[in-house]
Amino acid sequence: MSAPPPDPSPPASGLPSSEGNEPRIVEAADLVDEITDTSSLRVISRLQRNGHEAYLVGGCVRDLLVGLTPKDFDVATSARPRQVRRLFPRNSHIIGRRFRLVHIRFAGDTVIETATFRGEPAEATAEGDLLIREDNTFGTAIEDARRRDFTVNGLFLDPDSERILDWVGGLEDLDAGILRTIGDPEVRIPEDPVRILRAIKFATRLGFHIEDRTWRAMCDNAHELERSAPPRVLEEILRLLRSGTALGAFKKMRHCGVLKILLPDLDKHLGPHGDQSEADHKRAESFWRLLEALDSAVHDGYEPTTATSLALLYHDIAECEADPKTRRAKGDPPEWQKVTGEVLEHLIGNARLSRRDSSRARKIIFQQRTFSRPGGRRFRPQVFCLSEEFPEALELFRLRCEARGEGWDIYKAWEERYESASSADPEDIADEKKRSRRRRPRRKRKPKT
Ligand code: ATP
Ligand code: MG
Repeated sequence: MSAPPPDPSPPASGLPSSEGNEPRIVEAADLVDEITDTSSLRVISRLQRNGHEAYLVGGCVRDLLVGLTPKDFDVATSARPRQVRRLFPRNSHIIGRRFRLVHIRFAGDTVIETATFRGEPAEATAEGDLLIREDNTFGTAIEDARRRDFTVNGLFLDPDSERILDWVGGLEDLDAGILRTIGDPEVRIPEDPVRILRAIKFATRLGFHIEDRTWRAMCDNAHELERSAPPRVLEEILRLLRSGTALGAFKKMRHCGVLKILLPDLDKHLGPHGDQSEADHKRAESFWRLLEALDSAVHDGYEPTTATSLALLYHDIAECEADPKTRRAKGDPPEWQKVTGEVLEHLIGNARLSRRDSSRARKIIFQQRTFSRPGGRRFRPQVFCLSEEFPEALELFRLRCEARGEGWDIYKAWEERYESASSADPEDIADEKKRSRRRRPRRKRKPKT
């Protein structure tokens, strides 16, 4: 008997081969009925009437299928950006240079992002380097579905025929609660390592299991995130913090080794991954409780700003660095204000954080001590309450009280002071400011005898 023929080698791109181009099709009349904002439907209808293909794609189809309310409705079409522009001459404009999209505006600030089908980017196959740097090669609907990141994000919905088209196995994975890359994860993850963070975001948000090979590729390629643009990485981290599932997401980030690459100080602060001393465990737990408090606030409608999010990540580290017994950096701890600058230094340089956000985050951390230890003869509570970052600092203090299960009386007192300062007579405040600026008279030196 002859040996079975070897498996056909996978395509270089790691994407599924283009055989079997027939999509799985399912009826979706119910989903279309749930789309109450009709702007995207109008865009699709006009594109189709003019001979183009057009679908709802990505996150909105996924969210409709799992019963979540989509954040926005994205359209993918065979029409080129200029053709789309011509069909919506009064309310559209082309954005982006490297990835050209058309934004179509409707009443009530609705913007429908309309993208021309993308094919496989030329650089993706460049020998020895999988990182995608350009993504502007136009393609067909099927190619567009296949260049997307995860199967559950690759579904196309045609509102006219009320059908979902699935070229990537997304429907099956949605049913089974599985997050999986489209194509070979060993190619698709290093090609754009930010997908590691996206996988974590979607898996925690949807409560999905990350498929084993996808998870392994995430762990094996965590270090590749060093090559992604730092602002894009920071943006994904901030999104995770605002997601309402930050606790699960950060635990996964730590587990797959991403936290060590992206936020090494925080990873160190949480202690070794294996055997932990009681002190390590306590420190880690206190941070996890803080994320838990954040998640519960987000569920109640709270949206942390960039500065508050960063302050939340670095506050506990700053406290440890300010204590000679727990300090990791060299030398004795400098004064509290210096420590707050020190801990953010690495991030500011790396992630090209705006000066405004970094200085705000620093002040928010700095002010945490003032809440529990206000004092000094020149301390003016009203002026403190009216400082620009006070509301954000108080929010972080509230989250910390919630995490520790103590300090509520102090929080309430500050909340009241804040309310009365906000409604105080501006002249009183100006007086207080003047008093706080006034220098104490110098004591006269005794003449030497
Ligand atoms: P969200 O609800 O968080 O906005 P989303 O799925 O809409 O989730 P977006 O970042 O808005 O995510 O991207 C829209 C779609 O574009 C995704 O669903 C996915 O199909 C595709 N996409 C986005 N980023 C990538 C990426 N890095 N690689 C491949 N495809 C991507
Ligand atoms: Mg989206």
